[in-house]
Amino acid sequence: MIAFENVTKKFPDGTLALQELNLQIKQGEFISIIGRSGAGKSTLLRLTNGMILPSTGKVHVLGFHLGDRESQKTLRLVRREVGFIFQHFNLIKTHTVLSNVLMGRLGYTGTFRGMFGLFTDQDEEMAVSVLKEVGLKDQINKRVDQLSGGQQQRVAIARAIVQQPKIILADEPMASLDPKLSEIVLDLLYQFNQERKITVLVNVHVLELAKRRATRILGLNKGAVVFDGASQDLTSEKVSLVYGD
Ligand code: ADP
Repeated sequence: MIAFENVTKKFPDGTLALQELNLQIKQGEFISIIGRSGAGKSTLLRLTNGMILPSTGKVHVLGFHLGDRESQKTLRLVRREVGFIFQHFNLIKTHTVLSNVLMGRLGYTGTFRGMFGLFTDQDEEMAVSVLKEVGLKDQINKRVDQLSGGQQQRVAIARAIVQQPKIILADEPMASLDPKLSEIVLDLLYQFNQERKITVLVNVHVLELAKRRATRILGLNKGAVVFDGASQDLTSEKVSLVYGD
């Protein structure tokens, strides 16, 4: 489903964010990515949906090959199948919950129709149904800026789900939430992973949360994978390999 083949990412200023990465990810995996700040975790996610392209090597996602230059059409097709969830939610705060979730349908509707709010009844039914699943059925017509952080992240998850993605990438989605809300958000991602077989890759900076649901943990240190295994195999020795200097 996802494969990295000798992938190196060097930014124009010379920063080597990932080096010679080789990785295979199967459908339905729930992967937590851990590592210190700057280890390359979000670079890995951004390479997976083509937000950035590798300097050398290849990224294979859902049968598409992303090399160092890729057509806009390929990138559009990949991004439609891959939902992205951000630490700071990336919602339009002055719009309603429903209208934010409908944005997840843009890849199917087209930007022009979407700009004018020309979503189909089916789009709207889907959005409402997913909002019920994430526990926001009473907030559908509220403006996003009237919601708590935990609720806003659930709106962002709903927006990703109506995209009907095969993969969800979540970049520190719990980082601005308190511990209880963090668990709720993580468990929602897990629920969708289990029910819809969506592959989930999530960057997590709290180790306990990283271990909570993951079928596999990837530990990055200075742009290299230094741990790849099940959470029960993440011994304190391995943890210091991941977080050590
Ligand atoms: P993490 O998500 O683990 O905190 P990142 O993937 O964001 O790490 O960053 C990895 C390295 O790449 C860091 O040294 C970071 O400063 C650098 N980096 C990230 N994005 C850019 C960019 N656009 N230009 C230059 N350096 C970058």
